[in-house]
Amino acid sequence: MSRLCLKIWLWLAAALLTAGLAVPAAADSHQGHVTAPQCHAATPADRGAVAMIDRAAWNCTSSGWRADLPSAWLRFEADSWQGGPPPRHFFTRTARHEAITLYALDADGTLRARRFAESDGRPFAAGPVFRLPLPVITADTRAVLVRIDAPHSIPLLTEAGIARYPEDANRSLEEMMLLALVLGMLVLPLLFDVSFYLVLRERFVLYHATMVVAMMGYVLFAGGLISVVASLPVAFLAIMAPLCWATGCGAALLFLSDFLERGALSRGMRRLTFWTGCWTIAVPGFFALQLHATQAFDDTGYFLTITPAAVVVSAALIHAIVRGSRSAKFVAAAWFPLILTSIERLVRGLGVYAGPAQLDLMMFVATGIEVVIISLAIADRFLAIRHERDAALTEARMLEQISTRDSLTGLMNRRAIEARFDELMAQGFDTFALVDLDRFKAINDLHGHQVGDAALIACANAIRSTGDRDTIAVRLGGEEFVVLLRGLRTLERAEALRQAIPMRIAKDVPGLELPVTASMGVIVLEQALRPTMQFAEFYARADALMYEAKASGRNRLAYERLTVFSQPPALRGRKRDKAA
Ligand code: GH3
Ligand code: MG
Ligand code: MG
Repeated sequence: MSRLCLKIWLWLAAALLTAGLAVPAAADSHQGHVTAPQCHAATPADRGAVAMIDRAAWNCTSSGWRADLPSAWLRFEADSWQGGPPPRHFFTRTARHEAITLYALDADGTLRARRFAESDGRPFAAGPVFRLPLPVITADTRAVLVRIDAPHSIPLLTEAGIARYPEDANRSLEEMMLLALVLGMLVLPLLFDVSFYLVLRERFVLYHATMVVAMMGYVLFAGGLISVVASLPVAFLAIMAPLCWATGCGAALLFLSDFLERGALSRGMRRLTFWTGCWTIAVPGFFALQLHATQAFDDTGYFLTITPAAVVVSAALIHAIVRGSRSAKFVAAAWFPLILTSIERLVRGLGVYAGPAQLDLMMFVATGIEVVIISLAIADRFLAIRHERDAALTEARMLEQISTRDSLTGLMNRRAIEARFDELMAQGFDTFALVDLDRFKAINDLHGHQVGDAALIACANAIRSTGDRDTIAVRLGGEEFVVLLRGLRTLERAEALRQAIPMRIAKDVPGLELPVTASMGVIVLEQALRPTMQFAEFYARADALMYEAKASGRNRLAYERLTVFSQPPALRGRKRDKAA
C-alpha cells in the first residue's frame, strides 16, 4: 500500500508540475495583445452610460467586484492600446447574462454604442470564452465602457478583455492538449466501471461512473474543449459547466457513502454523506441553471451551497481513516489535489481575488488524477470483495460438504441420499443394496471402538466407487451402509462388493481375531417402477431381506426383484437367492 501510494504521489507531483509550467507559459503567450479592464462598477438598472463618463463613478482597484446588482460596468482606458492598432473585439469568460452594451467614449463626450443579447455571443473554437465586436475605435476614443446586464458570475467581469485579434483570447495549444489528455484519461475509468459493474453489481460503481461522466462534461464545457467540435449557445455552455461540477461533487459523495468498507463510516456519517450528495446535486445544481429570477444571489448561492460537500467529504474521510479504512486512504489521496484546487476556485469565484483563468487548468489536472486514483481504489476494493466472496463460497462449500458427508468414512450420509434419492432414481439407479456388518458389536467389545472405527473405514473403502459412475456408496449410520447401483449385472456387482468387505477389513485392520463379514438385503427394481418408489419403502423392504439373511446364518445376500406384477399386497414373482 505504502509503495503504491508513493508511486501515485510521484505521478501526481509530476502532473501538477507539468500544469504549473504550462500556466505561466500560457499566460506569457498572450501578453501585449490583451487589455484588461482598469476600472469596474456595479449599478442599479436605470444608470445610463452618460452617468458613467465621470471617473468618480468607478472603482479602479482590483477588489470589490460584484455580480449581484442588475448591471456591472467595465472601463478600458485608451492609454492601454496607445501606440498599437486599436482593439476590435471584446471577449470574456462564458457565463450567463442578459445583454452586453459596448460603448466607445470619444474625447468630446460622444458615445457610440452596440448592444448584444446573450445569444449574440460567439464562443471561441477553444477556451471557455466568447467574443463580441467593439464599436469603431478612432484616434479620438478615450475609453471603452462595457455594460453587462444581469451578470451571473464574477469571472464574467474579472476575465474580460479587449483585443485586436480574436485569437489573442484563445487558450494556447498546450492548454487545449492538456484538456484533451485529461478527457482521454477519463475514458479508461469509464470502461473499467462497465467491467467492474458486470462482475460486482455494486451501486458505488454506478455512482463512480456518474462522477466520471460529470467530470468529462466539466472538462468539455468549463475548459471550452466542446467548442472545437460544436458551436453551442453561450447560455448552454455557461449552465453545463457548473451543472456538471455540482453533479460530479454530489456523485462523489454518494460514491463515498457506498464505497467504503463495512464499518468504515458510522450509520449517522454514512447517512450524512449520502444526503449531502443528494443536496449537492439538487441545490447547487439548481443555482447552476442561473435563472434570471435568481441573478442577484445565484453566484454566491452556488458556491455557498456546494461548500457543505467539501466539509462533509473531509469529515467523512477523517472519520473513516481514524477507523482504519484502507479505501478511505485511497480516496483521500485522490481527492486532496481536487479539494485544494476547488478551494482556490471557490475563493476566486466569490471575487476575493482575481487570478488568471489559466489557474483552472490545475483543477482539470486534479480531476484527471482523482479519477485515475479512484479507479485504482475501486480495483483494490474489487479484489477485496472478490476475495471475501471466494472465502464465503469456500465456506459454503465446506458447510455443504460437512452436512452431506459422513465424517468417519467420507461417504455420502443419510441426509444427502434422502435429499437426492428421486434424482438418482431418475438417473437410472435401480438396485438398492443394504449392507450390515455381522456381529460387529463383538469387534468393538474385543478390540475397542478405535479398531471398530478402522474396520468401518475399511468397509467403506471396499464399497466406495472410485471413478465408477454407476455405483454410489452411503453410510446410513452405525455399521449399516447402502450401495446404489445401475447398469448391467447389478446383483452380481453388489455381491462382489459384499465379498470384498471381509478381505479389505482383514487387510487394513490386521490382528482381528475373527473375520468381519457382511450381510446384504438387495432390491432390484424394474424400470417402470422406479418413479413410484420412495427411499423409505426401499429401506423397509431391504431391511426385511436383511433380517432374513441374518436369520439364515449371516454372511450372505438376500434379494428381491420387483416387477410390475410383484407389486404389494401380493408379492408375486418374488425371487430369493442366497449366497454364502
Ligand atoms: P448383527 O450381525 O446382528 O448385525 O450383529 P451386530 O453386533 O453387528 O449388531 P448390532 O446392531 O447389535 O450392533 C451394532 C454395533 O455397531 C453396536 C455399536 O457398538 C457398533 N457401532 C455403531 N456405530 C459405530 C461406530 O461409529 N464406531 C464403532 N466402533 N462402532 C459402532
Ligand atoms: Mg451388524
Ligand atoms: Mg446393525
